Amino acid sequence: MQERTRESKLFDENTEARRQHLEKYLRESDRAFVEQLTERYREYVPEDVIERVKDLPPEIEDRQEFDQDLLDAGVSIEPGEKVLGYSEGSRRPIHVTTDHLEIPKTLIHERTHQLSHPAARERLGAPLHEGITEDIAILNLGSEPIEGIPQCYPEERAIARQLRLLCGEEAINEAYFRGDLQRLRERLESHSGKGALDKLRRRMEKLDNIE
Ligand SMILES: [Zn+2]
Repeated sequence: MQERTRESKLFDENTEARRQHLEKYLRESDRAFVEQLTERYREYVPEDVIERVKDLPPEIEDRQEFDQDLLDAGVSIEPGEKVLGYSEGSRRPIHVTTDHLEIPKTLIHERTHQLSHPAARERLGAPLHEGITEDIAILNLGSEPIEGIPQCYPEERAIARQLRLLCGEEAINEAYFRGDLQRLRERLESHSGKGALDKLRRRMEKLDNIE
């Protein structure tokens, strides 16, 4: 019995040490993501937003803490949905939970949200806004999500990617980071006809895997 107690204690210590190492690694990754995003999109994002986001370390939490914060923030969750991270603009820290395999991608997704123009979500519609967020996150992460596990916004991201290839990064960046949809609207209309962006927006709002 005594040996079992010792072993179990050692295991607990290792678990805590592992948790601390993981958290340190994630904080370093997060800093690198913020550096990369703010450098790449500097011309689109106001300087004060960049400074604010750089000064806000992420909340990296276990599931219990994360769910409590999610509840306190009033974020609604669909049945069967698992939330991996959330953000509330550039004035509050991002929250990311650690009980899944896509922690770096979730960090960069939430950091991308923080740099988005406050009106962009409403102007683009939530599904397209999420699709662009995920597309920018994956573009900057430089690796595709792990296959065989549920993907975040797969259809929205596929559409956002198509839109970027069709209309160009500049049009996407102006819409997402400045809330200025003019170039995106013009480029899409020149390709797909009048009202194409509004039609796309309405079509995407019918996708059902979105909060
Ligand atoms: Zn998101």
